[in-house]
Amino acid sequence: MIPFLDLKSAYAELKPELDAAYARVMESGWFVLGKEVDAFEQEYAAFCGTRHCIGLGNGLEALELVLRGWNIGAGDEVIVPSNTYIATWLAVTAVGATVVPVEPTPAGPNIDPDRIAAAITPRTRAIMPVHLYGEPADMDAIMALADRHGLKVIEDVAQAQGAKVRGRRAGALGHAGAHSFFPTKNIGAFGDGGAVTTDDAALADRLRALRNYGSKVKYVNIERGYNSRLDEMQAAFLRVKLEKLDDWNERRRVLAARYDDRLAGIASLGLPRVPQWAEPVWHLYVVRTKNRAELVKALDAAGIGSLIHYPIPPHLQQAYADLGLPRGSFPLAETLAETVLSLPIGPHMSLDSINAVAAAVRRAS
Ligand SMILES: *Cc1c(COP(=O)(O)O)cnc(C)c1O
Repeated sequence: MIPFLDLKSAYAELKPELDAAYARVMESGWFVLGKEVDAFEQEYAAFCGTRHCIGLGNGLEALELVLRGWNIGAGDEVIVPSNTYIATWLAVTAVGATVVPVEPTPAGPNIDPDRIAAAITPRTRAIMPVHLYGEPADMDAIMALADRHGLKVIEDVAQAQGAKVRGRRAGALGHAGAHSFFPTKNIGAFGDGGAVTTDDAALADRLRALRNYGSKVKYVNIERGYNSRLDEMQAAFLRVKLEKLDDWNERRRVLAARYDDRLAGIASLGLPRVPQWAEPVWHLYVVRTKNRAELVKALDAAGIGSLIHYPIPPHLQQAYADLGLPRGSFPLAETLAETVLSLPIGPHMSLDSINAVAAAVRRAS
């Protein structure tokens, strides 16, 4: 049996450190906005290479609060990938702005800079690239476009903590990066969590108020804010895991390379194609196949977990029926939704397990 995801092994590897973090917070008697969050913010900013990090409640609110922090709202357009998890779109519509979906590059999975240029209008305020599956979007091209048109860029780093473009980390490549610490992410909390990384001091300052009821001084509310705070317990756990992030991403890279090797030459299978300027962190290892249903069935029968990221693109979700974007509006995203399959990967998987999955895929293909 090879599960799609194994989250228990992280605790097994780090039990003494995590248990000590738990005890430290419990004994401190301080649970929201304290020393652990402060320390994690500094450590995570240093890791990403930004001046500021603001710990927040989750990744969706990290995206949303950045838009709020830049006063993006009704009447503004934000360019988003057609091929993404729905959270990217939800952040834009939550502030009342309009999503302008743009298709991925032919090699996929990320937003195509050439198509972004054609989607920019006088109302465009921001571009929200997603580093999907842990593979960086083409940030050099996106930042060049943004500079030319005076647009803000917010990276959705939820799946790509630690990934790099030409040696610089995701989260430090745009004007702001929104991170999720949902348990399944490359650095996951034991509950919900999120953060924004940025060099923009004014944005950082505003986010610190927005996350805390619009308040910097207790009971003095300078604007209508949210309650979206990374808590002390999760911050303490994340500090332990941050020490391991580069190691764990390196283990993922080795496993992905093994998949590349063992799955090469299967005619019906499309493998991930990584641009030479990108250092992905393999949040997911995603293949493409026209025979997906059969492949899933065969893997299932062999006791191997697999998942689809994602089976329905945002524009075809009932949640966005009011946008009136019928099937055929974004054919590249739609084809990906019909053909992608994520194989098991994670820092605690063995090469033997990868070999076994690859062999099962080969048999079924
Ligand atoms: C997980 C995820 C999010 C949302 O993060 P949460 O912490 O669950 O709110 C946003 N965007 C992408 C691409 C994600 O994978």
